[in-house]
Amino acid sequence: MRSLGGGDLGFVPTMGAFHEGHLSLMREARQHHKTVCVSLFVNPLQFGPNEDLEKYPRNEARDFELANSVGVDIVFAPSREEIYPRQSTMIHVAGLSDLWEGQVRPGHFDGVATVVAKLFNIVRPDIAYFGWKDLQQCLVINRMTEDLNQGVKLKFLDTVREPDGLAMSSRNAYLTPELRAKAPLLQRALGNLVGSFSNNAGDIDAQLENGRELLSSSGFLVDYLELVSLSDLRPVRKLDDAALIVAAKLGSTRLIDNVRLAKPGE
Ligand code: AMP
Repeated sequence: MRSLGGGDLGFVPTMGAFHEGHLSLMREARQHHKTVCVSLFVNPLQFGPNEDLEKYPRNEARDFELANSVGVDIVFAPSREEIYPRQSTMIHVAGLSDLWEGQVRPGHFDGVATVVAKLFNIVRPDIAYFGWKDLQQCLVINRMTEDLNQGVKLKFLDTVREPDGLAMSSRNAYLTPELRAKAPLLQRALGNLVGSFSNNAGDIDAQLENGRELLSSSGFLVDYLELVSLSDLRPVRKLDDAALIVAAKLGSTRLIDNVRLAKPGE
């Protein structure tokens, strides 16, 4: 089967509830392809049993309008039954999937990898667009496409932020006004840490610990705040080819963010 775009199809997989982050991926795809397809599917396979699958924000009519407004040609919005009449085959990207988000959300990346592989097989894009906001997801999908010779080129785009620095996310809508006011501290803490890092391993350890304490004392429940290698996501204590990653809960809302200290492949 040929790509719908006749060899020039850009694809943006999403779970909907569009914000400027999603739209930036669509605009970039629009600039580079004859045909742009966006998928809109809240993937049950990537939600844990106690997560927010049922209350995940949904507004298809608005999403269709927004996609149309940035020149998307095709919105693919399948039902659960269409995507999963059954699912015996799961994709597990060993190693990368098991750390960080994968530890806090077991099975999450198997759900992500499986749905993205299925969407690639259905849509047959030439290039697919993802956001660095979900850094671990970018690395998992990149590894999957290489391991499985999927032949889809990937482009990763920078995180779009609110004016106060908070990374845009569909889940920000869950924050109460009081917690919303606190949320930008997450990104500020990352920025301060990056500014203060030296190449001394002991210093980096101490600074990371300070960062965790600062966030905890400001009301965040920190899942992790680490300096990791961009190749395998393991902790590192040197600054090249590294990223600072964070996940923390504010009330019942879980926020993630990151800063890349080097930008491989860009
Ligand atoms: P989602 O609908 O949350 O699954 O996200 C769909 C795509 O948009 C993923 O590739 C995300 O990484 C990307 N994305 C989400 N938030 C942002 C953001 N603030 N800036 C850039 N890309 C984003």
